[in-house]
Amino acid sequence: MGCCFSSDQEDRSKKPLVKGDPSSIMTQYSSTSQLTPDDFKAVKVLGKGSFGKVLLVIKKGTENYYAMKILKKKAIEARKQRTHTLNEKRIMQKSNCPFIVQLKYSFQTKDKLYMVMEFMKGGELFFHLKKSGKFTEERARFYAAEILLAFEYLHNIGVIYRDLKPENILIDDDGHIKITDFGLSKLGISESNPKAFTFCGTPEYLAPEILKNQGHDKKVDFWSLGAVLYEMISGAPPFYSKNRNEMYKNVLNKPVEMKPNFSNELSDFLTKLLQIIPEKRLSDMAEIKKHQFFHGLDWEALSKKRIEPPFKPRISSSTDLRNFDPQFTTEPIVESCDSTVSQDGLINPYPDFTYIGHDDILSTEE
Ligand code: AMP
Repeated sequence: MGCCFSSDQEDRSKKPLVKGDPSSIMTQYSSTSQLTPDDFKAVKVLGKGSFGKVLLVIKKGTENYYAMKILKKKAIEARKQRTHTLNEKRIMQKSNCPFIVQLKYSFQTKDKLYMVMEFMKGGELFFHLKKSGKFTEERARFYAAEILLAFEYLHNIGVIYRDLKPENILIDDDGHIKITDFGLSKLGISESNPKAFTFCGTPEYLAPEILKNQGHDKKVDFWSLGAVLYEMISGAPPFYSKNRNEMYKNVLNKPVEMKPNFSNELSDFLTKLLQIIPEKRLSDMAEIKKHQFFHGLDWEALSKKRIEPPFKPRISSSTDLRNFDPQFTTEPIVESCDSTVSQDGLINPYPDFTYIGHDDILSTEE
């Protein structure tokens, strides 16, 4: 079955938008020595983000595979994303939730930051959606419910996720999902400080209050869940237009069009999530869990991953990358040399990443 993505989307141009985010975290380099890039061997390229790439790596001397995100400090600084990068690492490190990708190790060299994460062999939900065109309501409901548990966890620790999209939802061997990429997340949200003001997110899934630049809170995550759920079931995001300004106009003015094949429960749930006025949007977790769309779902069992996923990805081995876009996996691995610098007296703008003062030449698989 064909899918409804335009070629615009197929070349993966759903880039997140970010506005300036100046910060001045300055402390001394940490010199604790632990794992280094040399402890890993690169196998393949898995994907690309805004500031670098993600490689499949194996830890030398083990059978353990990981996804290693390599970020270029220059690119981060050029786009004033230092705070967002530090937040990403802090959130992933702090999180202990079965629906959030786990960070295993992190370190840095002079030019790069490394985040070593659990490897999600089933790839992006985006990949599977593109392949199937659309999902059944049952399948989409399962993913939406696991995403909601990730949101519940994040909101409870004061984090707004802000970048839900099918590319950031990864699937594990069994078919459960985990969200990743916290580069746009907002930390430190509380009842006394509930709002954020940075204009960011990915156009297709941006809540109207972000577009209006009026300040936003965790309710933006429920809007983007509505947009992703709509896309999972219909094959395209609800307000999509090739023309970005047109798409923004749609978000602000156009009532969301429910498709004839949507169940009444789904249409009602989507209408309540894609509510333009944030105060009127369905955003209370207890109420959401009780919504008819989730009728019969055992949330307790779901939270323990005791509900069998409706789809299990085909995977024959740890290096079977059939669930990843060949655009990336066929790319040669090129990692440049990152030379050693003395740590004495230098200021480290990324104090949370252990500083490793040596090369990061990753060897490819023989
Ligand atoms: P990111 O920069 O975090 O958006 O990652 C870019 C892409 O790399 C993702 O969209 C995935 O295709 C891939 N990727 C990132 N993290 C992982 C992971 N933990 N396991 C498998 N693939 C990943």
